Amino acid sequence: LPETDFKIFEELESEVRLYCRTFPAVFERAKGAELFAEDGRTFIDFFCGAGTLNYGHNNDFIKARVADYLAADGLAHGLDMYTVAKRDFLTAFAETVLRPRGLDYKAQFTGPTGTDAVEAALKLARKRTGRSGLVAFTGAYHGMSRGSLAVTGNRRARRAGGVAGQDVTFVPYEDGPQGGFDSIGFLERLLTDPSSGVEVPAAVIVEPMQMEGGVYPAGADWLRALRELTERHGILLILDEIQAGCGRSGRFFCFEHAGITPDVVTLSKSLSGYGLPLSMVLFKRELDVWEPGEHTGTFRGNQLAFVAATAACELWRQDTFHARLAASIDRLERFRAELDAQGGDLVTRGSGMALGIDLGSGSGSGSGPLRAERLQQYAFDRGLIVELCGRRGEVVKLLPPLTIDPAVLDRGLDVLRQGLRSV
Ligand code: PMP
Repeated sequence: LPETDFKIFEELESEVRLYCRTFPAVFERAKGAELFAEDGRTFIDFFCGAGTLNYGHNNDFIKARVADYLAADGLAHGLDMYTVAKRDFLTAFAETVLRPRGLDYKAQFTGPTGTDAVEAALKLARKRTGRSGLVAFTGAYHGMSRGSLAVTGNRRARRAGGVAGQDVTFVPYEDGPQGGFDSIGFLERLLTDPSSGVEVPAAVIVEPMQMEGGVYPAGADWLRALRELTERHGILLILDEIQAGCGRSGRFFCFEHAGITPDVVTLSKSLSGYGLPLSMVLFKRELDVWEPGEHTGTFRGNQLAFVAATAACELWRQDTFHARLAASIDRLERFRAELDAQGGDLVTRGSGMALGIDLGSGSGSGSGPLRAERLQQYAFDRGLIVELCGRRGEVVKLLPPLTIDPAVLDRGLDVLRQGLRSV
């Protein structure tokens, strides 16, 4: 391997840096599902910015729109003003994503990243209902700022963030490690038993597929039961589609699989389709209780991101996009079936173009977390980048671009096949 010099990063960047330690290379260019390091190495990217690059790196269709916009001196920053780029995006999103699904939401653009959308969603729910309580699920990930961290199912991170005082009740997530636990029945009991100490909350926030938590898709029946319960008690249901949305599950919204209509939806990551920062909250019209300027932020609605996101919406109207997506899902499902057929203690989970390979718990050198780490290292050494997730890092998470070239997908899966034998 060529010698790479990481000195500048180690000297000048905080110890908080993480992924660069796991993937020691200095990346320079990227195309489709491939990353190119400055030392000449090529990597297949099944990490994709934790679900940010659903349409691949430098997608030609999106890139051309962004390049044209820049060449024409399109406005780069518009601080919440009416702009052509925003109008184009709102129109394209309504026509391509919302209306065909019978959804009638208003959009709010929030700060650049996912946690901003979650903050706004929680704040809106509290304002609208006049209640402060929230219900979240164990294993959930919603962000690292104080509101979103308070509903994130990670005790250590919450303690470090000092958010313990927030009025949040955590309910075990049914399809998570407590699989089979009747979380809806449990929540119902908490809400109806006057001795429980849990007041009716403003909102329940849930990921339709827990991604950081270990790739646990919520069952359709479970989501429907949660919708029914929240409706009956007048609780707002917030679906966090930040990682599972924008096509990752095979449909634009992951909640579509359950046929429910959430009150509020948060989106970010792949929304811009190009890795440009954009986050948005969608909510039913009657929930729009904001006063002008009540929830602000300098980087709400980046114009370049709007241009890219408009192009991304158009991809959803192209037959070639859908054909490629269906073929990729099929390939990933066959790989999953192959792993399942091998038996052993390995468990696979996922939906669409998200696949989690759970290597189990345990401790010591043969434990799931250690084997997952070894598999990740094995893959990296052979030019494949995968992320780990789950309570203890025991799950290898595959998020290839939806638009991946089938040959590249196969090459990546082959590395994993061999890696699984070796670890
Ligand atoms: N919600 C979910 C479901 C996420 O996966 C993430 C990011 N991993 C966030 C919220 C927070 O997004 P961001 O890191 O962009 O703030």
